[in-house]
Formats: sequence, structure tokens, C-alpha cells
Amino acid sequence: MSDTLTLALSKGRIFKETLPLLAAAGIVPVDDPETSRKLILDTNLPDVKLIIVRASDVPTYVEYGGADIGVAGKDVLMEHPHAELYEPVDLKIARCKLMTAGKPDVDPSSGRLRVATKFVESTRRFYAEKGEQVEIIKLYGSMELAPLVGLADRIVDVVDTGNTLRANGLIPMEHIADISSRLVVNKASMKMKHKRMQSFIEHIRDAVREQN
Ligand code: ATP
Ligand code: MG
Repeated sequence: MSDTLTLALSKGRIFKETLPLLAAAGIVPVDDPETSRKLILDTNLPDVKLIIVRASDVPTYVEYGGADIGVAGKDVLMEHPHAELYEPVDLKIARCKLMTAGKPDVDPSSGRLRVATKFVESTRRFYAEKGEQVEIIKLYGSMELAPLVGLADRIVDVVDTGNTLRANGLIPMEHIADISSRLVVNKASMKMKHKRMQSFIEHIRDAVREQN
């Protein structure tokens, strides 16, 4: 069916916080991704399927048409600056901040600052705009560890309450960007399935307005 809509979501907070918006658009998943092993989930609507992918893979699935629509954090989208996507709605969910952090009261070693992060692109851009030469060390998780073991002077990570940072003896330092999740849309789908996509986007937009 050419007018089937495939939505790419990630498990965890994005799935949980997107559910009420989907419900307001009349879409209810039949399976729960936290307990099901299925990666393609049916919904109450025969023409809407959900696919479950890694948060950082959502832009890739949507850009290449593996999904028509997706929900991705702005932090993830900022790592894909050249992705051919529309970004029509700020869903205002999964809100946090992209920040630098480090140990308090420690002068970084002289020479180039070493910054550990999984957000290499945003980090590169942030320090480039400050005119500061840094060495970026790519990590895939547990960034808080890096300053504790001398791997890096700073980290760049998403921060909500700062509790994880403080639990590890780090403090948030510089604000890089406000983060929330965005609806992203495949450009070809937007042309080929225009009415169905437009109606879905409008329903989600209304749901966001009602929640905020
Ligand atoms: P993966 O497990 O694939 O590496 P992830 O750890 O980034 O992905 P989540 O932790 O579920 O996956 O985060 C998904 C999105 O939620 C992030 O891209 C970010 O936009 C947002 N997010 C991350 N941490 C927080 C937080 N503490 N508070 C609010 N939103 C957050
Ligand atoms: Mg995580």
C-alpha cells in the first residue's frame, strides 16, 4: 500500500513521550516496544506502522526513506547537518541542554583542551566559533568518566537536572544549545503522500499545542 505511513521512533523516553502525541492524532501502537522483540509494530490504524531504531539512527532511516517520518532529538539532528530532511514540528518533548562540563576548580592542562563526547560535530562547531583549538575524543557513552580518569579535561553531553554530572563530581559549564525532539520527514514522502503526511503533521502540531 503506497499510502502506508512508517514512523521511526527510538525506545525509552522518546517513545514514552511521543505516545500521547500519537494518541491525540488517533494512533495507538498494538505492541509495547519495551516488552516486544518486534522491530516493526502495528498500530490501531492499518495504514500506520512504527519501526523501532536507535535514537542516533532515526535521521538516517528517514533521510533514505526507510521511514516516512521520525522523531529525533535536536542533539542527534545537529550531528547530521547535511541530512536531506524536513523538520516541520518541534515536539517540545525530551527537553534538555547540550553543555560542556568538567571538574570544578581544575585548570585544564596547558596546551590544547581535550574534550570527550559523542557529539563530535556540535563540539567541533562550538569550539570553532569560540576560536579555540581543542582535541576532540569520540566516545559512545559514559562520558562523565573521561575527566575522572584523565582521558579529557571536558565533556560535551546532554544535561537535564545535572544529577548525573554531580554524582560524578562534575559541574555543568557552558550552554551550547537547548534540545528537544523534532518531527523529521522524508522529502520524497512529503511529495508522494502529501495529503496523508500533511494531515498527520497537522494532528501532531495540534497535539503539541494542547500539551504546551
Ligand atoms: P542510544 O541508546 O541509541 O545511544 P540515547 O542514549 O541518546 O541513544 P536516550 O537516552 O533515549 O537515547 O535519548 C534520546 C534523546 O532524548 C536524546 O537524543 C536527547 O535528545 C534526549 N535526552 C537525552 N537525555 C535526556 C535527559 N536527561 N533529559 C531529557 N532528554 C534527554
Ligand atoms: Mg541513553
